[in-house]
Amino acid sequence: MCDMIPVARSMMPLLDEYVKEIEPLWESRHLTNAGVLHQRLQNELEKYLGVPHLTLFSNGHMALEAAIQAFGLRGEVITTPFTFASTTQAIVRCGLTPVFCDIDPETLTIDAGKIESLITSQTCAILPVHVYGNICDVEAIDDIAKRYGLRVIYDGAHAFGETLGDVPVGMFGDATMFSFHATKVFHTIEGGGMAYHDPAIGRKAEAIRNFGIYSADLEIEEIGGNAKLSEFHAAMGLCNLRHIEEEIYSRSGLAMAYRERLQNIPGLSLLRYREGVSCNNAYFPVVLEPGVFGETRDALQQRLMENGVISRKYFYPLTSAFDCYRGLFPIQDTPIAKTVSENVLALPIHSSIREADVKRICDIIRDGRL
Ligand SMILES: *Cc1c(COP(=O)(O)O)cnc(C)c1O
Repeated sequence: MCDMIPVARSMMPLLDEYVKEIEPLWESRHLTNAGVLHQRLQNELEKYLGVPHLTLFSNGHMALEAAIQAFGLRGEVITTPFTFASTTQAIVRCGLTPVFCDIDPETLTIDAGKIESLITSQTCAILPVHVYGNICDVEAIDDIAKRYGLRVIYDGAHAFGETLGDVPVGMFGDATMFSFHATKVFHTIEGGGMAYHDPAIGRKAEAIRNFGIYSADLEIEEIGGNAKLSEFHAAMGLCNLRHIEEEIYSRSGLAMAYRERLQNIPGLSLLRYREGVSCNNAYFPVVLEPGVFGETRDALQQRLMENGVISRKYFYPLTSAFDCYRGLFPIQDTPIAKTVSENVLALPIHSSIREADVKRICDIIRDGRL
């Protein structure tokens, strides 16, 4: 099925470029544990993301768990159920209780106006997600956090390299997790990072990432695991970072082509980005309105598939509906998030497709109208 259009496709440097980057490793034999390439990638990403500190991890999920642990969080965390499994799983695996807040129907990020009513004496933090790269209502969230003395950790897995006005997205809150997984805009095959303001948090996170070890003299003050990024992964990151602007630029052309052809279709809505977001076009979701757009989401996905186009029900189901959580904690009702997750479809967007592909995809979608 070489003709299928995948929903995402990993960017790759030329093989020679990657080989050149890893070649010195045959001499140095320093393959992991914060090697030379790891350090270079950390420096370059701090610069690119415009953040004072970034700690690298084996993946974004472990960066999120390390952040939760480094801040010493206990109790309840207010979060969104309209996200990838990782966000909620990190909260639960760290022994905390997720409290699900509904989302804004237009931006699809956590509805900051509904956070306060969920705060209890047990609440320790807010963990919002910059869904599809749409930056949350960071001002309102910051205001609530300050008034109630809560920590804010952002899941920024979708927001690589973005800014709100001239503020880099990784500057908001106490910390921001980034994912460098192969399906993300920028990747290190597997990998992730935590951006933060307080260097003491970074030291803790580095220890958590390496079995709790602070320094070579083996004092163990943290309960840690293994979440280190190897030199081979860092090398892929260094290569991809050289080409990230081209990747984002080609995606913005595709997003514009989608918008042009899909706007003004009754019952089909496009994501509305907050004003001032420099969008990385990591995803292109559409949300159908049942009964107004002709087809259901599942029927449209099926028909796209029959026409060689792979789309993704992203995010479906809500994390709050996961079987493994049943009976563990109360599940809040989030009717807007539920409706969106039942009707959302993410369309292909990556630098391996052309505007002609987008045109064809849009024509298929338009055929499903009433
Ligand atoms: C990809 C993703 C993660 C997890 O990142 P990994 O690097 O795959 O561990 C977490 N949250 C969201 C919203 C994601 O999309």
